[in-house]
Amino acid sequence: MRALDEKVLPVYETVLRRNPGEQEFHQAVREVLETLGPVVAKHPEYVEAKLLERICEPERQIIFRVPWQDDRGEVHVNRGFRVEYNSALGPYKGGLRFHPSVNLGIVKFLGFEQIFKNAVTGMPIGGGKGGSDFDPRGRSDAEVMRFCQSFMTELHRFLGEHTDVPAGDIGVGARELGFLFGQYKRITNRYESGVLTGKGLSWGGARVRKEATGYGCAYFVQEMLGVDGRSLDGLDVLVSGSGNVAIYAVEKVQALGGRVVTVSDSSGYVHDPDGIDVELLKQVKEVDRGRVSDYAELRGGRARFVPDRQVWDVPGDVALPCATQNELTGRDAATLIANGVIAVAEGANMPCTPEAIRAFREAGVLFGPGKAANAGGVATSALEMQQNASRDSWTWEHSEQRLREIMHELHRSVYETAEEYGAPGDYVAGANIAGFVRVADAMLAHGLI
Ligand code: NDP
Repeated sequence: MRALDEKVLPVYETVLRRNPGEQEFHQAVREVLETLGPVVAKHPEYVEAKLLERICEPERQIIFRVPWQDDRGEVHVNRGFRVEYNSALGPYKGGLRFHPSVNLGIVKFLGFEQIFKNAVTGMPIGGGKGGSDFDPRGRSDAEVMRFCQSFMTELHRFLGEHTDVPAGDIGVGARELGFLFGQYKRITNRYESGVLTGKGLSWGGARVRKEATGYGCAYFVQEMLGVDGRSLDGLDVLVSGSGNVAIYAVEKVQALGGRVVTVSDSSGYVHDPDGIDVELLKQVKEVDRGRVSDYAELRGGRARFVPDRQVWDVPGDVALPCATQNELTGRDAATLIANGVIAVAEGANMPCTPEAIRAFREAGVLFGPGKAANAGGVATSALEMQQNASRDSWTWEHSEQRLREIMHELHRSVYETAEEYGAPGDYVAGANIAGFVRVADAMLAHGLI
């Protein structure tokens, strides 16, 4: 961990006191505050207006009961969340996560990070996040539909295309978004396409949204390597996870000439030294809703499934953690560094622990934080909102071109901000500061609200 500036320390102490037990939230706040020393030194007006304190406190936090019935008629009660964190730059924007680990602290950490990520994209979107401790795994389509309908029956009153616009995240994909949108439409009697992003193509979705987070992450690595005239071409790449972000990170890395040799899920990982067969992976995960062990089996002798282990034991040049928070520890980082890793980019949100990030920094490994490296998803969500507002639908080529331009521009802005604030090559500082300054200036302009 880095030290906190003396003007910033009391803000962190207040966050700890006011939000006890929310370890991931503390971690996310600390990681941002640690990099803001040079900003408060340069902008005393932010300190005077208590902007740091205000940004750390969500504008609104909604917690609600979600009752539903399973296929046998048994009643279940889950908890739903939506944290509307900051609307200085636009409507609250951020995904919904359905996973048993979801609690208020997790949603707050994700919502807090989302503010800065959305700001660095340069798009007019605020920050928010939501979800439930519901586990869609092993549930029938009918059960998932009943859950989504109950969830949206409460959540709909807080949403709107100009107010709060959710999307998917872990456990919330095309199926869940369809059920959520259907219920919103039914309750409000409005075909309000811009109220959710990640929609199906035939009902208001945008091309490249499904692919955007993973593709964007691959583009970001390519940009980082490009600073020294290197590229992904010929490099071995480790990807963790096998969900939406992981699959499309694999696809784009391979299109850019890299060879992805791993994917994983919570039961273990696959090592496929010839390179992951992405079409087979899509079939297993997106169509059959299977596991990576099924992928290994279908690959015959070419791939090996290793249960209960992480991909970071496998040697590789580049690592892309694309599963979940704190999945890559200081020990994993030491293994990766010993194996010669040159670049790491976070496809997931906060997948690297503070110890891992410090180890990468000290070893001179290029490190792209999620706020920059996985921002392609939300940026393309903002493009989906644009298309919905103008009742337009862009081609694949145009949409992908826009994503590429956005990731290029985002990398440039983060890189230059780090240099401007005396931290050349530090993408963590660059992303935090670029995002913070944009939000802080808008908040100053809006007065004390
Ligand atoms: P998915 O639900 O599609 O996939 C999640 C993957 O991560 C699965 O392979 C899952 O394995 C694995 N995983 C989830 N939780 C755990 C856990 N506790 N331990 C080990 N493995 C786990 O989610 P996404 O791909 O959409 O999201 C992945 C990450 O990317 C998240 O951090 C998310 O916040 C972030 N992100 C997503 C964006 C998007 O557009 N989807 C945008 C920006 C960030 P299993 O099936 O075994 O649970």
